[in-house]
Amino acid sequence: MYDVIIVGSGYGGSVMAARTAPYGKVLILERGKRWNSGEFPTGLRAFSAAYRSRRNPLGLWEVRLGKGTGVGFASGVGGASLLYYGITTRPDDHALAHWPVTSATLDPYFRRALDVLRPESCPDAHTIGDQRFFDLVEPGKRVDLQNVIDWSKCTWCGDCVSGCNRGAKRSLDKTYLPLAETAGAELRSETEVVGFTMRGSGGWDVRVQKTGDPSTLETIPTRTLVIAAGTMGTLDIMVRQRNLMPLSWTFGTDIGMNGDGAAFLYNTPYAMGSHHGAPITTTVRLIHTDGNGLPRTLTVMSGRIPKFLMHASATMMNGLSEVMGERFEDRQSLWIRAKRRLADLRAVGPDGALSRTLMYKLDGQDSAKGQASFDERGQSSIDWPDYANDPILVFAAERLRQWATKVGGVLLCDLGTWPGMKSFGVHALGGCRMGKNVEEGVVDDLGRVFHPAGGVYPGLWIVDGSILPGSLGVPPSLTIAALAERAAEYLLTRPSSAN
Ligand SMILES: Cc1cc2nc3c(=O)[nH]c(=O)nc-3n(C[C@H](O)[C@H](O)[C@H](O)COP(=O)(O)OP(=O)(O)OC[C@H]3O[C@@H](n4cnc5c(N)ncnc54)[C@H](O)[C@@H]3O)c2cc1C
Repeated sequence: MYDVIIVGSGYGGSVMAARTAPYGKVLILERGKRWNSGEFPTGLRAFSAAYRSRRNPLGLWEVRLGKGTGVGFASGVGGASLLYYGITTRPDDHALAHWPVTSATLDPYFRRALDVLRPESCPDAHTIGDQRFFDLVEPGKRVDLQNVIDWSKCTWCGDCVSGCNRGAKRSLDKTYLPLAETAGAELRSETEVVGFTMRGSGGWDVRVQKTGDPSTLETIPTRTLVIAAGTMGTLDIMVRQRNLMPLSWTFGTDIGMNGDGAAFLYNTPYAMGSHHGAPITTTVRLIHTDGNGLPRTLTVMSGRIPKFLMHASATMMNGLSEVMGERFEDRQSLWIRAKRRLADLRAVGPDGALSRTLMYKLDGQDSAKGQASFDERGQSSIDWPDYANDPILVFAAERLRQWATKVGGVLLCDLGTWPGMKSFGVHALGGCRMGKNVEEGVVDDLGRVFHPAGGVYPGLWIVDGSILPGSLGVPPSLTIAALAERAAEYLLTRPSSAN
């Protein structure tokens, strides 16, 4: 019998494992495989082959298409940290204003997570060019980021989102998970959880199998069960459980995309270094006042294109700018602009149009109106047909238009507004949102799962992106880590509440 079984090794799972392992018998179950530096796919073909599917259940990445949205996420030891840019940032206090836990309460847990993650600013960020651009269009609003990256090893190869083969990214398999394993936690990778039932004598029986192989089904008992399978993975698991155990009616509702969006200001007069694959290092943080007079954060990043997509993207933008682009006048001659576009067709570099293109990558406090839907296999996707018209995205589009008017270039507006296209994001948050009671949420502010008849299910927790009750407006990993730090502390100091 384990004291704690944790499903998933992303942010929620790794933190819970690291903090509980010194005090009991802990098992982490992760459906993906271990990826070591040097093993991540390089190039478009290898990246495509790493797509997770029924035929390739150990794949690294996956996209779920719903009405209006597409959500990307990862599977592997370390969860989505394997594919992220390592941006580690606290949300504005107002982003948590209506949460059952305040920013001030979370303060010590943010600091505890930062002590482990140790994010650092890129020492050479000022040489990229995008800082100067942001200072021009939004004076005084630039925020330089900190990333969980060892900058001395980072070569700006641009492969953050397909996995770092340079050993520069300190993903969770290099931070929290070694803490957990050193303290005695067992980690079973390539092992997926298919369900669980409450034991008569207390605790939970967890049904697991080798990933993709139902013939290997076995049951493992535990006193406490922590579901940390990421927003989409947790929705997949909990929708099956809902048939066996009642949950709050809020299950699967109020899902945010964290304002994810992307647009392009192509071929401007300003060098922005977008031909580098450097991680995202620079943003501006803007505040939009919503219809109720409340502040909402919009983080605009100078996004990046992975190196293996660089040439294809430059060629595509070259063509699309002619067909879909809206031209804003600048002081440069037609010939200079054309020369840059021709340069990109030969090889993407500092003389090309892409190097002077702003990748307008957004994280924003959207209104979290997504709804989970499930296919015949019980796999979740997120429906939000008019997501692209959410007020934060409309605000973002207006702001980009203002910048285009100021600096010139060709505006390619948010993909989600193009006919037949969807808005894509990698930050789906919610679906098992926390609330003060079962009317407001699936879990309480610690992640304990509410029973609709009253109280919580003993020893059952959800601790991952799915419990966030709204979008943050900044990348979410640090907030998930802080919530997990707090949940783990509570679980350890009041073990009876978990049993
Ligand atoms: C390309 C990309 C870039 C990003 N960039 C940033 C960034 O720079 N900064 C930032 O803060 N955030 C970023 N994010 C988001 C961030 O990585 C996630 O918000 C965070 O990792 C979510 O943590 P989580 O605990 O919810 O679970 P996840 O990280 O999603 O991990 C869940 C794990 O559970 C496993 N799992 C699922 N189902 C099962 C099952 N049935 N059995 C066993 N295991 C299961 C999965 O395989 C996965 O490994 C990015 C995400 C992506 C995809």
